Amino acid sequence: MDCDDCLEKLYQFLDQELGPTERKEIARHLEGCDDCGDTVVFQEQFLKVIRDCGTSDVAPAELRKRVAERLRGGGPPTTA
Ligand SMILES: [Zn+2]
Repeated sequence: MDCDDCLEKLYQFLDQELGPTERKEIARHLEGCDDCGDTVVFQEQFLKVIRDCGTSDVAPAELRKRVAERLRGGGPPTTA
């Protein structure tokens, strides 16, 4: 598991859609990776905002993709 794999599965991880083996792999990676650890915090907030907007049933695939690409591009997570 490297950072790319981790980020790729992050949403499923946060949405509890992964099997126990994958969850364990990601959790282990997050423990040893500050970058992905920060990303998880950011993503959790992001997902919470989406849920608060009442759009949790409509997968905002395009939005997710854009955020993932931005994160992968090394942009600093923003809480604003
Ligand atoms: Zn990582």
